[in-house]
Amino acid sequence: MKGKVSSYLIGNQQVRVYIAETTELVKHAMAVHGTSPLSTAALGRVLTAATILGRMTKSDNEQVTLQISGTNQIKSIVAITDASGNVKGYISNSLAELPLNPQGKLDVGGAVGKDGKLVLIRDMGLKEPYVGHANLITGEIAEDLAAYFMYSEQQPTAVSLGVLTDAEVFVRAAGGMVIQTLPNVDEEVIEKLETAINGMAPISNMIDQGMTPDAIIDTVFTDFDSELLEVVDIEYTCNCSEERMLKGLISIGEKDLREIIEEDGKVELHCHFCNTYYNFTRSQIEDILDAALKA
Ligand code: ZN
Repeated sequence: MKGKVSSYLIGNQQVRVYIAETTELVKHAMAVHGTSPLSTAALGRVLTAATILGRMTKSDNEQVTLQISGTNQIKSIVAITDASGNVKGYISNSLAELPLNPQGKLDVGGAVGKDGKLVLIRDMGLKEPYVGHANLITGEIAEDLAAYFMYSEQQPTAVSLGVLTDAEVFVRAAGGMVIQTLPNVDEEVIEKLETAINGMAPISNMIDQGMTPDAIIDTVFTDFDSELLEVVDIEYTCNCSEERMLKGLISIGEKDLREIIEEDGKVELHCHFCNTYYNFTRSQIEDILDAALKA
């Protein structure tokens, strides 16, 4: 359930490259959500993107949420991450299924659709979180995130995200790469970069071949110098707990809560991120209602 994100500076420190290795993390997400290969690929791409977005945070207590609103079989994919490498995700349709696309790949773009939205929320613990929006371009997630950076943050960015599946081990390899030029970038570096990106093999194939992030950097960016900045562990973790869920229950409101316990004698809550069910008895709920009313 763990992975890594490695960050590099290449091309005379004019280009930032992030490489995420998420094979185990995506396998774990598949087990938690019971996803079909197509839903695994869609959720895995969003989770992988989020782990890299988590490395672009400006403060240590920033939380980043990446939401994809689709219009076809998959209406919603959400991944939430923090600066410490914790990530969790949710997909509205865990059993999406479509024929392979003309390239012979899982048709994530077909399942999400092209007419939806990408929303990126950066919550730095201030009053208002920063919220950025972009229209989806292909629904394939990588192109959509690149377009988001270009149009919403005026930041030229190349994004590659991949989840390689097969019938035997399901998730063979998963990972992502994000390449961003820094503001002082030379024209010559941009040209070399475009050639390198155009000739690049899919990131999941390189990971499947056992290539390390260093080897990927050396192979893709042959003509560039490179410097490793950091390697950070990432993990699929959910911070839900009975205590948090009980607190959340109060937000339902006293009247509705009393109605539910009169009708059902209990309340069942479900955490969408780790697929855990929490059951609260009548007396537990009466206790929190009493405590809330006294407060
Ligand atoms: Zn949970």
